[in-house]
Amino acid sequence: MERLFADVILPLAIAPLTFEVEEELWSHIGVGSGVSVPLGENKLYTGIVCRLHHNTPPYKRIRTIGSIVRSEPLAGLTQLALWEWMADYYMCTVGEIMRAALPSLLKPSAKSDDLFEERVFSLGREQMVHLAPSIRTEEELNRALDGLLPRRKAQYAAMMEFCDKIGVENLFEGSVPRSSLGASLPVVAKLVEGGLLDTFTRERTPHYRSAQLCHSTTLSPAQERALEEVRSSFEHHSTVLLHGITSSGKTELYIRLADEALRRGESVLYLLPEVALTQQLIARLREAFGEGLVVYHSGLTARARTEMYIKLSRSEGGEIVVGTRSAILLPLNNLGLIIVDEEHDRSFKQEDPAPRFSARDVAVWMAGRQGCHTLLGSATPSLESYHNARRGRYGYVWLGERYGAGSLPSVTISDTIKSAGRGERHGHLSKEMRDAINGAIAQGSQVMLFQNRRGFAPYIECPSCGWSARCPHCGVTLTYYKKGNKLRCNLCGHSEEAPLKCPACHEGEPLPQGFGTEKIEEQMAELYPSARIARLDGDIAASPSRMRAVIADFESGHTDILIGTQMITKGFDFAGVSVVGVLNADNLLSRPDFRAEERTFQTIVQIAGRAGRSQHKGHTIVQTAQPDNHTIIQAARFDYEAMAECQLADRESFGYPPFTRLVQITLRHNSPEMVYHGARALADRLRKVIPHGVSDAHAPAVSHIADTYIMQIMVRIDRATNPATVKSLILHTLKEFARDKIFRRITTSVNVDPQ
Ligand code: ADP
Ligand code: ZN
Ligand code: ZN
Repeated sequence: MERLFADVILPLAIAPLTFEVEEELWSHIGVGSGVSVPLGENKLYTGIVCRLHHNTPPYKRIRTIGSIVRSEPLAGLTQLALWEWMADYYMCTVGEIMRAALPSLLKPSAKSDDLFEERVFSLGREQMVHLAPSIRTEEELNRALDGLLPRRKAQYAAMMEFCDKIGVENLFEGSVPRSSLGASLPVVAKLVEGGLLDTFTRERTPHYRSAQLCHSTTLSPAQERALEEVRSSFEHHSTVLLHGITSSGKTELYIRLADEALRRGESVLYLLPEVALTQQLIARLREAFGEGLVVYHSGLTARARTEMYIKLSRSEGGEIVVGTRSAILLPLNNLGLIIVDEEHDRSFKQEDPAPRFSARDVAVWMAGRQGCHTLLGSATPSLESYHNARRGRYGYVWLGERYGAGSLPSVTISDTIKSAGRGERHGHLSKEMRDAINGAIAQGSQVMLFQNRRGFAPYIECPSCGWSARCPHCGVTLTYYKKGNKLRCNLCGHSEEAPLKCPACHEGEPLPQGFGTEKIEEQMAELYPSARIARLDGDIAASPSRMRAVIADFESGHTDILIGTQMITKGFDFAGVSVVGVLNADNLLSRPDFRAEERTFQTIVQIAGRAGRSQHKGHTIVQTAQPDNHTIIQAARFDYEAMAECQLADRESFGYPPFTRLVQITLRHNSPEMVYHGARALADRLRKVIPHGVSDAHAPAVSHIADTYIMQIMVRIDRATNPATVKSLILHTLKEFARDKIFRRITTSVNVDPQ
């Protein structure tokens, strides 16, 4: 008698396990089936079957599959193939991918069968109404209807409504939800009694209207040309990079291409950076695609996510979904097009927890292997994508003019050192900055000011002894908030009263140093007492409703000046903005990261791109102490090519991506000594098996967070080396390290392609 076994993926950081399938399940189980399996002494998990076979596993105790959780598969073959590739590439387990992909309600776990049973998600049930089977022809139906008149008017009306709802084509086969009929319960019951109607119950399918283009615009000649180029580029490339300057109307092209895919019956996935900040864009897509647009983001309830997942997995295509990075894991059948809007944005990469995947890179893989098209769009493409386009791996389409009358803003670099020397600085604003703001206010247009620090000041310092307030739990200074005279840690949330006297020398009075958004807000209120000023940063965004209100007020012109952090650089389209100010470009440049210059360029160009999007001529002022810095000059000229040329040359000579691949290993422990020695030992062991490319163990710029100390090792894989080999050597070494007597309490994690 042959036995049947199933390899089952569990939503845990372990490899698939093998279970026996009892005979009564044989005809029901398949690859992709969700099953309940026992693990440990008394725990049941939901798993997904990834393989069925007859090879008896070498386990002492072979356990059996409990039950099938849902009759439909939880994941299809395409999805399983994607999960396997992701686990391999990102050096995690398929279980971790499953954990990220499945909504929580679809992967119940429990201590007993009964409890598990209770937790299995089911869609609500609904009663369906159809014609009684005895009525098979129009004649029979008419006879039955005639029988109702003249006395049973309510029943007659209910029948007419029913026939109308169901339509002539479906009259004898179709059914409609009882709740969709206006007739009361007793009336329907009477009709069932009278042999005209029949009912049955079924699972309620979450219902969405189908998506179709309901609103479109006429494209400009430049847009038309770019659209044509994208189309023809897709004939030779699975991935195309659309490099279009800010406000060139890329979104309109995405809408067109999405519509074409929908018409072919294909599904479309539109990925964008953090949804909360891009509500404007979602509103535009809603206007274009109506209620059929599916919006998938972290703010949804567990039930809504689950229903969406089921609905999408049942659909055969023609869906359009907009979402952030995790939407890449949705079960979209017949996927034709993935759009990655603002593809350079780092929020497409998940850094913590595992799986540490890049939704953009996964989209590119899917295009190459699963037959869809991926369109990457940006005004400031990542150097990786640009490099791939230049090497011919991606198609490349350039859209170099703004839509309509808009032209790119003029940019002035304002030298903060010179300006201070001339005594022209007022608070933190140079004369050029103030003049520009004055001009904007006078003509009734709006102003956006960008400062990459929140709070009042990034730190306080004692003028006598140099003491500064640091977080007791993290390796950073405490941010000073004037409101409430508080010091707060932006990493762990630790908060304390700001001291009046220096706690170190007991003499000096610590003073705020540097400036954050709160301080700029205060200064602007002093300088422009009649202007309406608002702020948008991490502190405001902690309340989504407050954030929405700030954005809506600025959009409608209720506020004149918006001060914000990185958040205000992302994708906003405000017609009234004429002046944009970057208050301190230097702290962008000074980040300890090989991408600092690329990011500085992207931030300045993106924020500058918020100005002059309609009739107002835009003007951008960039304050910096390094007016000769080539990246700042390139950004001021919107010269992407020059920046790319320069940075790619540096990356090549110093061996950074896209010329190499990086794998970052992070070690964490609450003892700094333990993590230090552990990291050094691990680096040594890695070097024994990987002779080239293993860095020294080093502490990151923030050496500890919430009392956990961190060390890192970077492994650099050059293009000539097979990354899969190096990755498996790393995994093997880490596995041994985890068994080490001294170091096994150190937590390690691996990040492939860290951003
Ligand atoms: P991008 O995404 O390239 O920054 P957008 O797609 O946001 O640019 O377009 C910039 C502005 O121009 C938006 O307000 C948009 O509504 C408008 N626009 C772009 N193309 C058209 C068009 N074909 N017809 C009407 N308005 C357009
Ligand atoms: Zn002091
Ligand atoms: Zn802290």
